[in-house]
Amino acid sequence: MKFTDFEFDSRLVEGIEASGYEDATPVQEQVIPFVLAGKDVIASAQTGTGKTAAFLLPLINNIISAPFDHNSITALIIVPTRELAVQIAQHMEGLSYFTSVSSIAVYGGGDGNAFVQEKKALSAGADVVVCTPGKMLSHINMGYVKLQGLKYLVLDEADRMLDMGFYDDIMRIINALPAQRQNLLFSATMPHKIRDLARKILHQPVEINISISKPNEKIVQLAYMVYDTQKIPLVKHILLAKNFDSVLVFCSSKISVKQLTRELKRTNLAVEEIHSDLEQEKREEVLMHFKSGRIKVLVATDILSRGIDIDNIGLVINYDVPHDGEDYVHRIGRTARAAAEGSAITFVSVKEQRKLAAIEKLLGKPVPKGEVPAQFGEAPAYTPNQSTFKSASKGTGKPRQFKRN
Ligand code: AMP
Repeated sequence: MKFTDFEFDSRLVEGIEASGYEDATPVQEQVIPFVLAGKDVIASAQTGTGKTAAFLLPLINNIISAPFDHNSITALIIVPTRELAVQIAQHMEGLSYFTSVSSIAVYGGGDGNAFVQEKKALSAGADVVVCTPGKMLSHINMGYVKLQGLKYLVLDEADRMLDMGFYDDIMRIINALPAQRQNLLFSATMPHKIRDLARKILHQPVEINISISKPNEKIVQLAYMVYDTQKIPLVKHILLAKNFDSVLVFCSSKISVKQLTRELKRTNLAVEEIHSDLEQEKREEVLMHFKSGRIKVLVATDILSRGIDIDNIGLVINYDVPHDGEDYVHRIGRTARAAAEGSAITFVSVKEQRKLAAIEKLLGKPVPKGEVPAQFGEAPAYTPNQSTFKSASKGTGKPRQFKRN
């Protein structure tokens, strides 16, 4: 699903594009319409699923499309740790860059200077506040925090907050908020205590469950950092180095499927392509030949990533990094089925590094990195944290952006 399907405000669309997002992740696809419609939501979603943008995007859109009190906090996002508060505030800044929505992170452990800055922003009514519970409560207790116009409350990583003993602080904060508001609760797990909390805070919530499967332990995973021009020579090298019986190569677009197949056909490999441009009959024929071993290498779009039943695929190559963690798990899950072992190799161009980092976050561990053989020239290093956010030269007309040093 494309972000254009949500009909977001054009200023928000600019922020989405500048952040490099194209398609919505499953959690975004499911959560965003309900938040836009004003519903309370309880969602079980882990870090790495794109859950932050799933609540930030509709919140920003709601805030800019309805009149709101500039002298009050409009949305309060409560999170367990300062790291997460900073991360979400940065995410917020990127996505809201072209809007006039102001935001600030409020967290413990800062110096006196930070406190003064926070006090100023909270007294003036920053539009979106991302906070840790203890620090926010200290500010509220001092009486200057403007909450009269608050419309949205988000509890992120709620299970972790309860594990860290924040229940009482959270309830005290909530008691200081206007009763009429929209509530969103995100949690990686849904134990009883979270359900109890949800019953106390949420009003007829929509429940969303994004369960992420983990890849089979038998799959040997490897990722190569490459420049785009190194991809084709390296695929050829891998396919020719070892005589695999059955290899599935995934590309993200039909164009790259066709281009790569054309290139591979120049070698002596038995290669075919499969994608939605082919008639059903032709697709079935190609699949049959792949299953029978007549075709050794099949180049495919994601059309084949779910549910195809071929047990003996020895190698899956991701010619492009899959869109999200779920797609990655499905693609590489085509190998090492039944009792067989299998390998999965992912090619990561410089602009795809952030996608791989998001997938690794979801898997909870890094994908081992392979060294590109010297004959292909120097390859890029893995530096996914170097932001690719294109900071634009355009003026935004932003009246107030609170930032911490
Ligand atoms: P989160 O689960 O919110 O921690 O997000 C994980 C990572 O995915 C972050 O680095 C986000 O910037 C990135 N991300 C979120 N949504 C998208 C999207 N629709 N397309 C690409 N990357 C995304």
